[in-house]
Amino acid sequence: MHELAVTEYVFNLVKKQADAAGVSHVDKIHFLLGDQCEYVPEIIEEYLQVMSEGTALSGVKVDAVIKESTVVCKNCNHKFTRHEFKDVCPKCGSANLKLNRCTDFIVKNIEVS
Ligand SMILES: [Zn+2]
Repeated sequence: MHELAVTEYVFNLVKKQADAAGVSHVDKIHFLLGDQCEYVPEIIEEYLQVMSEGTALSGVKVDAVIKESTVVCKNCNHKFTRHEFKDVCPKCGSANLKLNRCTDFIVKNIEVS
């Protein structure tokens, strides 16, 4: 479960910023995750619930926007998302494709009260 380490990292990062800004409570953390990122937002939220007890992050929610990997056709340079990917380029039909795996893991912003 590599979510534990990454959750600890996020928790410390957000807590530090919340303390520095003097906010009383952090309600929600927004993430931007690549579709090839190995972390599951629901598991991160579960770990956060446990870690945050008695802190300004107590009961914090997680919101994740998934960013799709892109595929580039090496024949015509057409770019499309992995979602539209059907073994061949939708534009020229070439199977000479390159997948750009999106493994982003980004804390986009936090909601506080
Ligand atoms: Zn093409």
